Amino acid sequence: MEYPALYLKRGEDARLRAGHLWVFSNEVDVARSPLGDFAPGDVVAIVDHRGKAIGIGYVNPNSLIAARLVVRGLAHPFDRSLIVHRLNVALALREQLYAEPYYRLVFGESDGLPGLTLDRFGDVVVGQITTAGMERQKDAITDAVVKVLAPRQLWWKNDAGIRAMEQLPEYADLGYGNHTDEGSGGEVVAREGGLEFGIDPVGGQKTGWFYDQRENRDALARFVTGKRVLDMFSYLGGWGIRAAAYGAREVDCVDASAPAVEATRRNVERNGLANRVNAVRADAFEHLKALREARERYDVVILDPPAFIKRRKDFKEGSLAYRRLNELGMQVLARDGILVTCSCSHHMPRQALVDGVQQGARHLDRQVQMLISLQQAPDHPVHPAIPETDYLKGHILRVLPA
Ligand code: SAH
Repeated sequence: MEYPALYLKRGEDARLRAGHLWVFSNEVDVARSPLGDFAPGDVVAIVDHRGKAIGIGYVNPNSLIAARLVVRGLAHPFDRSLIVHRLNVALALREQLYAEPYYRLVFGESDGLPGLTLDRFGDVVVGQITTAGMERQKDAITDAVVKVLAPRQLWWKNDAGIRAMEQLPEYADLGYGNHTDEGSGGEVVAREGGLEFGIDPVGGQKTGWFYDQRENRDALARFVTGKRVLDMFSYLGGWGIRAAAYGAREVDCVDASAPAVEATRRNVERNGLANRVNAVRADAFEHLKALREARERYDVVILDPPAFIKRRKDFKEGSLAYRRLNELGMQVLARDGILVTCSCSHHMPRQALVDGVQQGARHLDRQVQMLISLQQAPDHPVHPAIPETDYLKGHILRVLPA
């Protein structure tokens, strides 16, 4: 196995040796290995300044993250059989965690496959590739998925905005299997908490479903029975429909996306909860203000917004948006209410979310009790050396008059 060498400058191997998988462009010794000599996605040996190989990875000369390490050492090539091995290791965890084949199977760097996400919906797999190096391996990945899972379909949901940073086109299409005619069992379904949610592997958000909140939604069970619940940023109704299944008396799901609201209504019907769940299309901030003016009150308010802080430099503005949102949420809570607040922004530290809630509470003269800490489900493992993999945080809080 002969891979061209990507040389690192002196000392720039330390982070990789400590467990990280990324090489930034300024860490490459471009005198010995000019980045311009590589095409996006080329497989390389990553070599320290003494000439000792750290392992095998892939390169993108056009990206700030110039290379990602895939295999340590040189014993195993980066090929289909390595991907099969990584899939089997990933699968073993998920099969231990979950009784049914509905989960995130591969979470990028955390599962040793940087730039690749795979979500499993029974016999359908939805994949997302975010790097040129993984795009180059698409056929090998497809073969590996077919070998390990024998799915009915594999969809590529390769439309994430970050693909632009790797100069990759955005598209969503079927990568393996047949298009199935409507009404002949071709629908894709996520199963969670004994419920079914129809998802759209082409037109949906991200890979179609947010498995990262599953265990957090489980935690609703103790808080919602007989209660009036507001699910803000409800997407397909994940939180709200689960709350209804746990016995909530009345649930309002609110999302700005018309297709998401339509799909929520179908999911409500599908689970036989139509008399207790409403789905409304509205902007969250506008809707919360309208509810406040109308003096509506909910026993439980769930705030699960999209990432308000996509880049570190947006922190100030984004954290203010979290604070404003939480303050609005508290204003439509009953006197002794439950606030479920989340952030999926890696750049929003857990404490900053708590601080925003606390500031909002003081501003409204409320008292907050932190009850349960939320994090991403274990099918989204955190890589201890890569803080970016730890992105989802939240809290279940009790909000009382001061
Ligand atoms: N709570 C969902 C995931 C939310 S994803 C779940 O558990 O699956 C974020 C959602 O927020 C998307 O569905 C998006 O359509 C919606 N959204 C984005 N901006 C919004 C806004 N300003 N008002 C209301 N919904 C918004």
